[in-house]
Amino acid sequence: MDDELVLRKIANSVILTMYEIPELDHLQVEQLHEIPLGFLRKDATRLHAVCRYRKGIAKSQISGPKDVRCVDIHPVALEHEFRLYAAFLLYHEFIHALGFTGHDRNFRRLEALWPNTTATKMGEMFGLHLRRKRFKWLWRCPQCSKEYPRNRRGNGRYRCRECRVVLIDVPAES
Ligand SMILES: [Zn+2]
Ligand SMILES: [Zn+2]
Repeated sequence: MDDELVLRKIANSVILTMYEIPELDHLQVEQLHEIPLGFLRKDATRLHAVCRYRKGIAKSQISGPKDVRCVDIHPVALEHEFRLYAAFLLYHEFIHALGFTGHDRNFRRLEALWPNTTATKMGEMFGLHLRRKRFKWLWRCPQCSKEYPRNRRGNGRYRCRECRVVLIDVPAES
């Protein structure tokens, strides 16, 4: 199955789940199906997903999915181990699409209604996964296991910021 299709399937299941959330009852959830879905660049590391609004509309005037140009998600989130997280990312962006443009308290209250609480905690792990993929080496602290992703070997010249122990080189793909 190609990536667009996988993404659309995940989005459909997210929207179905949203129908079951009473707090979203009064919102235009069914219109979320109309939003074009796409992907961020593969080498993006900071951004995991984004809701892009149509140009020329002030944020304060965004009222729902019809004001949304597209929702893009990181392609790596479609890897099997991160699909639960992909669903949560879409849920997050769909709340933006429903007219909640900022991350204020109201947004966070709706975001917290996502039923899969494993997925909601996967952001940090996903970020680490992206950095690991991007770099060739991990300088690992043998004491606290903290990893410093780098493109070159450290060759024993660097120390852990916390423990001051000499870092060891580990290939990033291992
Ligand atoms: Zn957001
Ligand atoms: Zn350490």
